[in-house]
Amino acid sequence: MSDSCGCSTEAGNGTCELPAQNFERKPRAVSTCPECGKKGKPVEGQTVKAMFSASLREIKDTEYLFCKTETCPIVYFSIDNSQTFSTSQIRERVFQKEPTASDMKVCYCFQHTVGDIQNSSGDEQKAMLDDINAGIKADQCACDLRNPQGSCCLGNVRAVIQTSPGHA
Ligand SMILES: [Zn+2]
Repeated sequence: MSDSCGCSTEAGNGTCELPAQNFERKPRAVSTCPECGKKGKPVEGQTVKAMFSASLREIKDTEYLFCKTETCPIVYFSIDNSQTFSTSQIRERVFQKEPTASDMKVCYCFQHTVGDIQNSSGDEQKAMLDDINAGIKADQCACDLRNPQGSCCLGNVRAVIQTSPGHA
């Protein structure tokens, strides 16, 4: 439920129109992280390219998945498990890996951090959600390029709000 904020398709419009040539799953493909064994979430190739800190010659024409396990150092892995990219190879810090760090960005497009959200009143938190929604509506977000998970942050923002003292 928290993942279905409704805006991800809206926010990802540009990427949805790309030819789906990379989505042909091969029989041997797996979708579990080779490090922690948890199921990964498919991400667009351009998210991996935007986040990878080394030469993009290393990025293959294959499907990559995002590992959201907090204790696992792997951020992306290829669907055949032949490649993994860890937090040190990624240009951004990853919310899912440090979800309680106060300077950690939750909303990568409009720069709301864990600390901002946790230190805000309920009204201020509502204003933040409004700000994010307004940004999405104005087509100012770029979740697929900014957010390591490659999709909208609203579910994560709501989750941090739920655990904050300001939340009624
Ligand atoms: Zn993992």
